[in-house]
Amino acid sequence: MIDPDLLDILACPLCEQRPPLRLEKDELLVCTVCGHGFPIIDEIPHLLPEDAIEPEKVGQREA
Ligand SMILES: [Zn+2]
Repeated sequence: MIDPDLLDILACPLCEQRPPLRLEKDELLVCTVCGHGFPIIDEIPHLLPEDAIEPEKVGQREA
């Protein structure tokens, strides 16, 4: 489980305005602007552009 305080300071690395991320299923952070997903592995958010999951694939995971 990600600490809500930590979640508050995290931001999407792909968006210049550094928008907040929403937590999805405790395993994925999704940008509220561009829709890219970032994996959480062993409770560590991986917020690197090369780790980004494309928005189309994030949508598929919800199905
Ligand atoms: Zn973004």
